[in-house]
Amino acid sequence: MTATMRPEASASSWNNENGKMPTTPLRDNVERTFAADVFTERVMQQRLPKDVYKRLLRTIRLAEPLDAAVADVVAAAMKDWAVENGATHYTHWFQPLTGQTAEKHDAFIVPDGHGGAISEFTGSALVQGEPDASSFPSGGLRTTFEARGYTAWDCTSPVFLNRAGNNVTLCIPTAFVSWNGEALDKKTPLLRSIDALSEQALRILRIFGTDQGVGRVESTLGSEQEYFLIDRAYYFERPDLLTCDRTLFGARPPKGQQLEDHYFGSIPGRVLNFMGDAERELYRLGVPVKTRHNEVAPGQFELAPHFELANLACDHQMLVMETLKRVAPRYGLQCILHEKPFRGINGSGKHCNWSMATDTGVNLLDPRDETHTNMQFLVFLCAVIRAVDLNADILRASIASAANDHRLGANEAPPAIISIFLGDMLTDIVEQIEKGTPKSTMKGGKLDLGARTLPQIPRHAGDRNRTSPFAFTGNKFEFRAVGSSAAVAWPVTVVNTIVAESLDYVATELEKALGQNPSESKLPGAVASVLQKIVKQHKRVIFNGDGYDVKWHKEAEARGLPNMRNTADALPVLKSKKAVDLFRKFKVLSKQEVESRAFIFAEKYVKQVVIEAETMVSMARTMILPAAVRHQTELARAAAETARAEVPDPSLQESLEQCVAACGKARDAVAALEKALAHHDGDPFLHAKWIKENVVPAMEELRRSVDELETQVADNLWPLPSYRKMLSIR
Ligand code: ADP
Ligand code: MG
Repeated sequence: MTATMRPEASASSWNNENGKMPTTPLRDNVERTFAADVFTERVMQQRLPKDVYKRLLRTIRLAEPLDAAVADVVAAAMKDWAVENGATHYTHWFQPLTGQTAEKHDAFIVPDGHGGAISEFTGSALVQGEPDASSFPSGGLRTTFEARGYTAWDCTSPVFLNRAGNNVTLCIPTAFVSWNGEALDKKTPLLRSIDALSEQALRILRIFGTDQGVGRVESTLGSEQEYFLIDRAYYFERPDLLTCDRTLFGARPPKGQQLEDHYFGSIPGRVLNFMGDAERELYRLGVPVKTRHNEVAPGQFELAPHFELANLACDHQMLVMETLKRVAPRYGLQCILHEKPFRGINGSGKHCNWSMATDTGVNLLDPRDETHTNMQFLVFLCAVIRAVDLNADILRASIASAANDHRLGANEAPPAIISIFLGDMLTDIVEQIEKGTPKSTMKGGKLDLGARTLPQIPRHAGDRNRTSPFAFTGNKFEFRAVGSSAAVAWPVTVVNTIVAESLDYVATELEKALGQNPSESKLPGAVASVLQKIVKQHKRVIFNGDGYDVKWHKEAEARGLPNMRNTADALPVLKSKKAVDLFRKFKVLSKQEVESRAFIFAEKYVKQVVIEAETMVSMARTMILPAAVRHQTELARAAAETARAEVPDPSLQESLEQCVAACGKARDAVAALEKALAHHDGDPFLHAKWIKENVVPAMEELRRSVDELETQVADNLWPLPSYRKMLSIR
């Protein structure tokens, strides 16, 4: 054996030594490395005294308070584990309303008073932190001089090690609140919404007598992440990508996604290496990444984890985005999470697969075989239908952003109209419920593939539908309208809350109908009549057809479904009495907390579009117009020279005229955009409206003229890498 031995050689010598090949080389054994950087319950059990471990578990599972002495022991064990794994610092890791995560690192080191140092981590440092709250968006909840904010340990999401280069940091997932206890983050309302959902779902289980041994109902989440990869060299050449994560200009290449040859195609080697590396890092963090494939657009890919409890899944989703971004440069790649980085090809979404499950492991949205007899399932299903119909506007607002505006309704992602896809089998049952008690369940049957060697495969009772924003997919709902760069905690909070409200309604109706002495015999009748009423009132939200079809947009309008095409239209609903009452009633957000969020989201929309518009202006003025003028000069010179040589070329003259005209148009468009940008408004909602009505169309116009120039100007003069180059990733 030599020191320079290649890895494949070591695998084969291992084969020789043992006489047989191991199924997986150990160094890549996921089972061994999975959650290696997480302070899991198994690690806790190994490292904590038995009574402390038990106390901590009770805190994690039953939310029992943790006393200071126990917290000290837990903190010391965490620190030892972290330091043994190379950590020097710890941080309270939280999700402020920026949509990113935040961390401030503190070293474990403290002077020992004798010129040396020791490492220390106390229970109080674990449980509570005190970052400056004034520099995070608070939507008026905090002003600069009222700076105090707290982070509080969320012990239901395990601490983990963040590795970056040579630095290892112990990360403690925390909630972030202000000095007066108002939530300044995405986690706090999420946790509150899960509590609300649990409380209301338990009432339903109690009515059905299926609550034995169930302490809690959880929401579950699996979010599929779509993303683009481009060569990093191109990324640095494009100020729009660097500043806005999307291209603000770019002429359509001859080959986009017309041939449909990228989706599920073989994954390019460099990309596969990147994916494998990112997955290994995520496995170490305990993120159960499962699926990877090419997506529809060239350069577009997807990663999907196995679902988890929603709180953990939301934390993990943030880690997925960060890891993809961090690992890509190792392969000379840039990962783009923006919803619409390139015009003319599909954008990226993040399907949020959502369900409810008991802590005993029962999925409450599993229809099972004879669905029509599964009354409890039908109650949960109809509660979701009611929730989505009543709160379609709030759900729409929960996914509104400047970036998602490019995607929703662009015939590639679901329309901005929120509707539910149920599929044939459930639609049939819902129709039966409308008439009375359902009597039968449609069966999918078997598919005969026509070749004797192929198996007969069981067929689902309904087809899939790609165009629905909120689709029932077998045993869960898939909220598809969520954008790829979104922090999913907020849309999931909204789904949990509206469903909690609906379950509250159903439970109250059933409790009323069953009276003081509920008997099993009264239950089917009571359920049938409550569900019948719900279906009658809310079936308008069910739509199984093509969401892209303009006929649907007309029909949705006739059905009275809201269609808020953009963020400026969608956000104000969060300020409405309806939204405030909903969040307040279920103790998810106070009036101030909802209003501050609406304010922050509107402000963010304004800032984002203004940054994009200013980037456009600067690129047009300092890169594109100078290049176009150079091209114009070359044309003029060529025209003059050919004329002088007495072989005048009329086509040159024509090109020159075209170029002059296009430059003129672009210059005018820059001026118009600058004028639109000069408007300011103290009220972010009014400013957002102005932006939508004036700035966005002016950006459109500028883009059109610049893209036109790109098709005329010589390639060697054009200052930006073209779509063709960026999208052919190898
Ligand atoms: P696709 O949408 O591509 O058909 P799958 O049906 O395999 O994909 O599932 C997509 C996602 O849904 C995965 O992340 C999966 O773990 C998640 N999922 C499956 N069951 C549930 C559930 N009960 N609750 C939440 N997510 C779930
Ligand atoms: Mg999906």
